[in-house]
Amino acid sequence: MIKTCLAFVLCGLAATAHAQNSDDDWNKPVEPFQIHGNTYYVGVSSLSSVLVTSPQGHILLDGGYPDSPQRIAASIRKLGFRVRDIKLILSSHDHFDHAGGIAELQRMTGATVVASPLTAAALKRGHMAEDDPQFVGNTPFAKVAKVRTVRDGETVKVGPLAVTAVYTPGHTAGGTSWTWRSCEKDRCASVVFADSINPISSDGYKFSEHPEVVKQYEQSYAALERASCDVIIAVHPEFSGMWEKRQSGKPDAFLDGGEGCKAYVKAARDKLNLRLAAEAGK
Ligand SMILES: [Zn+2]
Repeated sequence: MIKTCLAFVLCGLAATAHAQNSDDDWNKPVEPFQIHGNTYYVGVSSLSSVLVTSPQGHILLDGGYPDSPQRIAASIRKLGFRVRDIKLILSSHDHFDHAGGIAELQRMTGATVVASPLTAAALKRGHMAEDDPQFVGNTPFAKVAKVRTVRDGETVKVGPLAVTAVYTPGHTAGGTSWTWRSCEKDRCASVVFADSINPISSDGYKFSEHPEVVKQYEQSYAALERASCDVIIAVHPEFSGMWEKRQSGKPDAFLDGGEGCKAYVKAARDKLNLRLAAEAGK
């Protein structure tokens, strides 16, 4: 898994462009499981989808590839929840590996999709923006009909659930992380669903020629460092050590006192600095 992901990170979109079907390493079914309290992993092997539940309805974050929704739905049912009880679907960013399944999930649930204005525009259009660092041509996905927009710091609610948008641009201009409190009996934890913050681009793109994008990354790193973060779930689960934590068998394996968010930011910031140094010929 680690080898695969490094390859994907190094190759960027060239590697992800063909990775759209059920046979892909990123799209394997995995057993759903509880992360903390009412927060559950329902995604596929390398694309996180997270379910936050309440008796008054649920919130789902991200939809995987265009053919991930049936797997996500099967995971939700396996945990004993009803897919039609999902009231909101929140989006991290507008690449087809995280947004490709959202239209189908909306069709299955009737849920309202929620995203930042730039991500919402891309979801309605059915493809990423042309100024995206990874843009190499149109990589379309099913258009999403009904999308509500959120401001940075805005909280969306379903019954007792309250999830707050934290803008984390850079990887895409509209990139958004999401945070909420999840309780297990009387023990509550701040959970962060962390968007991609790695500097990945198409061949020939230079971050040093886009200081506005570098600035966005720095803003996003600072935002995630500031966030209250007892539990991190990265949009690619292996980037926040999901499988090691799960396999450790330790109680509270996902609670790391903020170390996970710090490590996630540090790894991305180191990559950006390396990339900028390489572009400067250092
Ligand atoms: Zn992406």
